[in-house]
Amino acid sequence: MKVHDFDVVVVGAGAAGIAATHALKSAGLSVVCIEASNRVGGRTHTDTEIFGVPFDMGAHWMHTEHANALKAPGLALGLDLYAAPDNAVTYGLEDDAVLWDEVDELHSAITEAARIDAEIEASTGIPTDRSLADIWQNKGHWSFTAAMTFALSIARDLPDTSLRDISAWEGGDDWFCREGFGHLIACTAKGLPIKLATPVTEIKSLTEGVQITTATGKIKARTVIVTVSVGVLAEDIIHFDPPLESDRRSALELITMGDYNHAGLLFRSGALPVQPDTWLTYHLEPDANGVARGGGFLCNIANTGLTSFESSGSFSRLLQDAGPESAIEHALETLVGFFGTTVRKAFIKGHATAWRNEPYVRGSYAGAKPGGHNKRAVLRQSHAERVHFAGEATHPNQQCSVSGAHLEGLRAAEDVLAQLR
Ligand SMILES: Cc1cc2nc3c(=O)[nH]c(=O)nc-3n(C[C@H](O)[C@H](O)[C@H](O)COP(=O)(O)OP(=O)(O)OC[C@H]3O[C@@H](n4cnc5c(N)ncnc54)[C@H](O)[C@@H]3O)c2cc1C
Repeated sequence: MKVHDFDVVVVGAGAAGIAATHALKSAGLSVVCIEASNRVGGRTHTDTEIFGVPFDMGAHWMHTEHANALKAPGLALGLDLYAAPDNAVTYGLEDDAVLWDEVDELHSAITEAARIDAEIEASTGIPTDRSLADIWQNKGHWSFTAAMTFALSIARDLPDTSLRDISAWEGGDDWFCREGFGHLIACTAKGLPIKLATPVTEIKSLTEGVQITTATGKIKARTVIVTVSVGVLAEDIIHFDPPLESDRRSALELITMGDYNHAGLLFRSGALPVQPDTWLTYHLEPDANGVARGGGFLCNIANTGLTSFESSGSFSRLLQDAGPESAIEHALETLVGFFGTTVRKAFIKGHATAWRNEPYVRGSYAGAKPGGHNKRAVLRQSHAERVHFAGEATHPNQQCSVSGAHLEGLRAAEDVLAQLR
């Protein structure tokens, strides 16, 4: 009698789930990927309906090009991948080099502070991880802007970021995919056994295997890989039996979802006097709570006329809570301040994302609070023997990225193969 419906169930069809499903299918196992929403890709999604040109609602930058796991698949698919131009500009700054020197200086300070912290911990056993705010020094008018230029991508406010977690990040050059990063990921999912619009509500460990309860029925499998975000795990959207251990619960309090959103603005061609794919920053001051009330712009993406305003941390949350028009208006008004009212005249339409409100994501990506840097390893451990975890949050040095999620999906597939052999 057949005891299991599948060897493996993969929960979630984002970058991690797709990679795991592909690897397990290729290894000859019977596998199904169960996805709650009605599309694949999770936090990678290229929309072409809203603006008529590719708009990455989630990930857009292919970070750490030298180690980016999606570069080879993208090229093999025949997609147009290209290096992000080295053309960042800072509005209002005479000599761009000044700001970028400060950013580099801050980066070195972070690495050094994290190294010292780790040495103290090794000798005393007491964790001393600090926040980015703890080491940032106000050295003048552009100092906070320099910190934010660096910190924007972290999706959290300066006091809420672990130095060690930032310093663990493997940097490198960025690349872009002209057709959209979300499109690339969706292409890699073609032909895989993925069941859409099927939320998983419970994962129960049995004597031999697991039982997955979905909105449309129960599935028995020998093992399961869970790739949902830490936001979904922390909010108990899936019930685990036995319950998640206290270690993992504590880790979910220290590795939490940040906020990062795009407000896409479509302009008539030539509206912004900058080169395609220019990264544009501007002067930012901390408010009374130490929060930057601004962000950055990726201008004229792939020469399509689409510009994306990027907001991060609690300012992003604030704009999100105030509704989509507020991010669009803030972005437009900021650009008008730089380039004049012709920008508003050339504006066609806007669209803002609100990732915190996505029921099966609940934020942007997982950052560590100070002291939480080593908890990614806890989130990576399996639960009750047959419940494996993977996703951007569990990668040690490509955390928060699509490439990290993909690599973790492959790692979890290897773990499962080793277990089932
Ligand atoms: C605005 C934004 C900008 C970003 N920019 C970049 C960038 O430029 N470069 C970069 O590398 N990364 C970026 N990221 C991060 C990147 O998108 C993520 O790290 C990566 O896509 C996460 O992949 P994942 O597979 O771990 O998780 P997800 O993509 O979240 O996949 C998990 C899947 O599980 C599904 N799911 C959840 N709950 C259930 C359930 N109960 N049952 C079934 N399915 C469920 C979800 O619907 C989702 O499809 C960005 C993210 C955001 C939000």
